[in-house]
Parts: sequence; structure tokens; C-alpha cells
Amino acid sequence: LAATTSCALLLTACGQNSEGGSQESKDKKDLTIGISMPTKSSERWIADGGNMTASLKKSGFLTNLQYGEDDPDQQVAQIENMITQGVDALVVAAINGEALSNVLQQAADADIPVISYDRLILGSPHVAYYASFDNKEVGKLQATYIVEKLGLKDGAKKGPFNIELFAGSNDDNNTKYFFNGAMEVLKPYLDKKQLVVRSQQTELAQVTTLRWDGGTAQKRMDDLLTSSYSTARIDAVLSPYDGISIGILSALKSDDYGSPAKPLPIVTGQDAELASVKSIIANQQTQTVYKDTRALAQVAANMVTAVLDGKKPETNDETTYDNGKKVIPAYLLDPISVDKSNYRKVLVDSGYIKAEELR
Ligand code: BGC
Repeated sequence: LAATTSCALLLTACGQNSEGGSQESKDKKDLTIGISMPTKSSERWIADGGNMTASLKKSGFLTNLQYGEDDPDQQVAQIENMITQGVDALVVAAINGEALSNVLQQAADADIPVISYDRLILGSPHVAYYASFDNKEVGKLQATYIVEKLGLKDGAKKGPFNIELFAGSNDDNNTKYFFNGAMEVLKPYLDKKQLVVRSQQTELAQVTTLRWDGGTAQKRMDDLLTSSYSTARIDAVLSPYDGISIGILSALKSDDYGSPAKPLPIVTGQDAELASVKSIIANQQTQTVYKDTRALAQVAANMVTAVLDGKKPETNDETTYDNGKKVIPAYLLDPISVDKSNYRKVLVDSGYIKAEELR
């Protein structure tokens, strides 16, 4: 296996024939890329799997796509299988960023390069490159939207406004980037008490949502409304992901928010999932952050191609993403804030969502 793979790494230099022509002993069309995605329970990852497969196929590779269904052990088992089957490279979006060290060692022993996709794999030196978005910027976009919409940013209003904070799964490395980015923007307003968190739950550890689960978020929002808002109104909710936003909105609606006397608070989100874009159009969820998964898949596919060609892929960040073993060179794409005013231009005109899907 090691011999075939190292030959695969030298796509053009391998198997020089006697006439001096370069006859590749393992052609790109014989190389299989294992794609390990976290879950099918969210639209974005279904799109990622599809886009990743399409981009790699376009580049001439075979693909093997598996979903771990939000179970870290299942993801490890799937990656182990891919290694046994002799994949030539791996593209992995981790469920638990810290659970892959052993399996990545196995990949390294078999000379299989690994690209970390969207979420950084932690605690392993065997991560070649990282393809993602500017994750801190995602949180900043969500928080900036809130302070602008409340009129705090331009000083039109002074507050105080009530806000509650939600964060993503504590085993996803992106979670702290989203949250810290948001808090950087919110902090001055919290310090001046223009924004007030009545529950006092402002630390990341108090506000995470295991596996990004909407039902878990709904339950927490229910509890917050009971404990902290029986005599007060909530004005904004920082939500890191559309599935969480939908859960939060369900809790708010069961407490009569959204009625003429009790307007819904500002609720942010991420991923521009169909249900949330529809919710934005219906004046329920307020904002989401769009991340073009087609572009991300292309970046990751380019990384695979370069690495298997023995070349250095294009990166634009060499300093931010330290995974505890080394700083992983990354290519980060730009996220875009979307609300009712620009969804058509950003999502529909770009072909990310079809107009008829929104009817
Ligand atoms: C991704 C987000 C997504 C979240 C939940 C994060 O790692 O970066 O786009 O909303 O996981 O699936």
C-alpha cells in the first residue's frame, strides 16, 4: 500500500516508460478520495458532501463519501474503513475535533494525506491543510447585525436591550471562534450595560449546545424565558446556527412572541439553510450567515490535487489555526451576512438557492 501511495504522490514522475514518456502507473482516475462528513441532519453537510464529490470527480478522482451521523465513534470507524480500503487522501469534517488522533496516525502510517474540512482537527500533527471560512468573522457578522439592528451601533438608541447568547457544540473547534468573534463586538455594549444578559450566562461553557441540536436549544430558550423573562421582554438572541435558531424561535413562539403585542426578538443564524431563509422571508428569523459550500468544496479539492501532485496548495492563512500539535496552513473563505434585504441577491442570484425552492 505504501509503495502505491508514494507513487500516487508523484503523479507525473511515476512509471516513466522506456520511451521516456510519462506513463502514470496510478492515474488520477484510479485515485480514490475518502470524504468523511459529520451528519445528514443538517442541509449544509448534505450540500458539502455533494459539492465535495462533484468537485473531486471534476478533477478526475473517484470518491467515497460517508456520514458519521453525529457519532464520533462511527466517524472513526468509517475513516478506519477507508484507510483499510486504501483511499489515497482523506477530506474530513470532524464531529469531535479531538477524537481523531489515533485514526489520523493510521492514515499517516499508510501515507494518506488528510485535509481538515470546515472544522479543524485537533491534537494531531497529521493534518496537511485546512479549508474553511473565516470563522471569527462569522461571529462578528452575527453580533454586528444585532447591534446595528438595535440602533446601538450608530448611537440612534442607547438601550438597555435584553440579549441571550447561544453557542455551538463544545467539541467543535469552530464554536469558540464564532463565540469569541461575536463577544468581541458585543463586549463594549455589555460593559456599558446597553446590552444586558438577564440570565447572566455569558461564559462559553454556559451557553454551548451539544452537537448543534435545535431541540436542545429550544429547551434552553424555554428555560431562559421562564427563569429570566417573566417580567421582561427579550430583544435579541445570538444564535450561531440556523438549526439552533429554529429551535429558539419555537420556544419564543410558544411564549407568545410574534404576536402583535409582543414582537419577536432579533435572531441570528448561520448556513442559509432553506428553512431559515424561508423563516427570514416570513419575518421570523432575522439574519443568517451564508457560507458558499460550493466554493469551500473547490478549495478542498484543489488542496487534494496539489498534495497528491506533490505541490503546495494555495493558502491565505498560516498563523491562526494551531491545532495543539502544529499550526495548520489554511485557506479561509469569506462569510456573508444575509437578511431579508439581500437574500435574493446573495442566495438566489448566485444560484445557491433556487427561487422555486422558496415558494
Ligand atoms: C460549521 C457551521 C455549522 C455548524 C453546525 C460548524 O462547524 O462551520 O457552518 O452551522 O458546524 O453544523
